[in-house]
Amino acid sequence: MFDHLLNEEELLLRNTVREFADQQLAPNAADYDESGEFPWDNFRGLAELGLFGLTIGEEFGGSGGTARQSAIVVEEIARGCAATSVIFVAHLSLCTRLIDLFGTEGQRQRFVPSLVAGEKVGAFALTEPGAGSDSSAISTTATKSNGGYLLDGTKMFITNANEADVFVIMATMDRSLRTRGINALVVERDTAGMTITKQHGKMGMRASSTAEIVFESSPVPEENRLGPEGQGFKQAMQSLNTSRIEVAAQALGIAQAAYEAAVSYAQQRKAFGQHIADFQGIQWMIVEMATNIEAARHLVYNAATLRDRGLPFVKEASMAKLFASRVAVESADKAVQIHGGTGYFAPTPAERYYRDAKVTEIYEGSSEVQRLIIARNILDTEDRK
Ligand SMILES: Cc1cc2nc3c(=O)[nH]c(=O)nc-3n(C[C@H](O)[C@H](O)[C@H](O)COP(=O)(O)OP(=O)(O)OC[C@H]3O[C@@H](n4cnc5c(N)ncnc54)[C@H](O)[C@@H]3O)c2cc1C
Repeated sequence: MFDHLLNEEELLLRNTVREFADQQLAPNAADYDESGEFPWDNFRGLAELGLFGLTIGEEFGGSGGTARQSAIVVEEIARGCAATSVIFVAHLSLCTRLIDLFGTEGQRQRFVPSLVAGEKVGAFALTEPGAGSDSSAISTTATKSNGGYLLDGTKMFITNANEADVFVIMATMDRSLRTRGINALVVERDTAGMTITKQHGKMGMRASSTAEIVFESSPVPEENRLGPEGQGFKQAMQSLNTSRIEVAAQALGIAQAAYEAAVSYAQQRKAFGQHIADFQGIQWMIVEMATNIEAARHLVYNAATLRDRGLPFVKEASMAKLFASRVAVESADKAVQIHGGTGYFAPTPAERYYRDAKVTEIYEGSSEVQRLIIARNILDTEDRK
């Protein structure tokens, strides 16, 4: 339904990932959701398709590529298995890409090829118990010591941390400097004084692990800092601006999956002697889903196109995430409703979509934070402070 707006290369990529999602991701999504196990075969499959190299420099094993291509890939992965798409975004967009963008030649050589090959798993840690939306208030400290840093503090809600080998950790040298005191440090798994504890009881996205990381005088060499001192926050925000388009694409993929499940069920299920698809009440729900998904898709690919053309895209990326995440939640809600009682039970996918969709309104900047960003861009409020 969007094919006329994709070029040949994009269509080929979309079809390749869709085939993988239909054959590998979707059939196993319910089982992984139930077991909560990390889907290693999905992860390896994505690596084999070369998808961890997307948007990464070719000199270190990447394939380059555009924001539109990333959005296409994330949408298709999320349509098959949303949890796998979170793993993908944390690994590629938040960890590998940050190192590739801001690392020195030596740092990129050291870390990027094994992440691109999927031999190592990546994670990105900004959030803390006391600082989520207000990420400039982080209190994990990087104290200078012996030509490097000692890390102390706690990170929470860190995707992939349970399995990750390479972490990009945001830590402050001096809290009074706020954003200008923050460094991005690449930390390896076996670092001394680092404890990782998986967080249980997650509503959705259950096959992706989410963990707390505690650092107690954990040594990190200075050569593991990305860019000059005090640039970490800027680097993280720059990176999140782009990955926000991917989270919007993830929401879109969940919405699309919920819509397809709802249409299929409505065409099969009978009540009062006819298919429920013949009832206007059901038709209106499906029409609303289809229309909102189409609108969300235009917002997502508009933001990605602006990004690819080097034009301002931050407001549009936030609009895409704000809208697509709402559409995901509402579409999943309608999919459950259309499935009736069946929709309330696993393994009907509708209840999983319902649980998976919600977090797209929370992470990578909650919907309230997206509104702040959009307002700031429209009203120029930052400049008047
Ligand atoms: C499954 C999952 C995976 C995650 N993965 C990662 C990861 O890999 N790495 C990482 O660093 N983080 C990760 N996060 C953390 C996520 O980014 C944060 O949860 C998110 O930024 C919100 O922060 P918070 O939870 O502290 O909520 P808070 O910031 O405490 O917000 C609470 C409520 O207040 C609202 N609010 C806050 N400020 C304002 C404001 N100025 N105006 C209006 N409303 C406001 C929020 O929108 C929200 O509704 C993950 C979270 C989840 C749930």
